[in-house]
Amino acid sequence: MNKDQTKKRIAIFGSTGSIGTQALDVIAAHPDKFSAEVLTAQSNDELLIRQALQFQPNIVVIGDEKKYQQVREALASTDIKVFAGARALDEVAAMDCYDLMLAAIVGYAGLKPTLKAIDAGKAIALANKETLVVAGDIIMQKAVENRVPVIPVDSEHSAIFQCLVGETRNRIEKVILTASGGPFIGRKPNYLVNVKREHALQHPNWSMGAKITIDSATLMNKGLEMIEAKWLFNLRPEQIQVVIHPQSIIHSMVQFEDGSIKAQMGLPDMKLPIQYAMAFPKRIPSDFPRYDFKKVSTLTFEEPDTRTFRNLALAQEALEKGGNLPCVMNAANEIAVFAFLRNRINFLDMTDVIEKTMQKIPFIEKPSLEEYFESDGEARNFAADIIKL
Ligand code: NDP
Ligand code: MG
Repeated sequence: MNKDQTKKRIAIFGSTGSIGTQALDVIAAHPDKFSAEVLTAQSNDELLIRQALQFQPNIVVIGDEKKYQQVREALASTDIKVFAGARALDEVAAMDCYDLMLAAIVGYAGLKPTLKAIDAGKAIALANKETLVVAGDIIMQKAVENRVPVIPVDSEHSAIFQCLVGETRNRIEKVILTASGGPFIGRKPNYLVNVKREHALQHPNWSMGAKITIDSATLMNKGLEMIEAKWLFNLRPEQIQVVIHPQSIIHSMVQFEDGSIKAQMGLPDMKLPIQYAMAFPKRIPSDFPRYDFKKVSTLTFEEPDTRTFRNLALAQEALEKGGNLPCVMNAANEIAVFAFLRNRINFLDMTDVIEKTMQKIPFIEKPSLEEYFESDGEARNFAADIIKL
């Protein structure tokens, strides 16, 4: 166990994922500043064990209870505590042994542990955007009540957050979220109907987990990010604009009421926003590759094509109507992406599944947390029925 209280003690929920492994790289590069106190995985026991042996956390959690014995035996010679199951994730989230949760589980599964951490007064570095899409009003309200900082890790929101440092008294006119456009930028439906998961998993600028990579290819990722921005920065829907910027150098922008626009720039590398969120309010040194103006000398911008990439239009509708609609959309999207990744439906079918589910599930204007959970379940069942999963 790490007893050095001068270090920030980090709990990485989702340590075996793309964000989680990069966060561990940041911790390994700054052992004087951070320690990994909690590591969690769903089913990748082998990587979780290796990470635990290297970082010697206080606690590890494996979501899949069938893997508990393997993990426990592999760590038997250490004093690392091992837990298993979804409930253990919630319990560990509320424990005293860490200072900051890096919420890096993918999808709806990340919501409950993050809620527990907020209730326990832990600072949150938030990668899991679905948490805010599902129940952003409740999350942000609880964060305010518990005086919990929610520091974005998503690169666009980290960019906006960085642009807002020192601007607390100044009104935001709008935020401009940049989007790479994904691998199918400029393509039309007759092409998209035939794309296979292998194509869609090839992102031009970022290497990420499978779900967010598909979301980037459909532009749903940008739609989720619009809703994420609404809650993080307390914006009205019309204050959130999306612009396609294929080079992914400008990570997002804020326009103030005098017309001035601030942008945050750099090479596309998630380690930077991860490190920024973990070290906030300080900036600490890094050896990440630097942007070279000679190598990428042209930055371009264009309008998103929401007639082809209809998920973005659906997300815009969910953003504007609010209530349980973003939660319903998110649930249908998770089912649709899961089915696409298993070659059960084609690329364009994903949008149809989401649209039908959004039309079907009854609208609730001001849902309670329980009603969000119910809407999620109903939407998942309905979407799975359409696909016949
Ligand atoms: P990955 O799929 O790479 O990793 C997901 C992590 O969550 C893994 O540790 C996985 O464990 C764990 N996990 C999966 N399902 C469950 C579950 N049901 N219960 C508990 N744990 C689970 O995802 P990413 O790292 O790409 O993304 C994580 C989050 O960060 C997402 O919400 C994404 O939108 C967001 N994000 C990611 C970015 C990126 O660059 N990757 C950029 C911006 C935001 P196991 O390995 O055992 O399956
Ligand atoms: Mg992003």
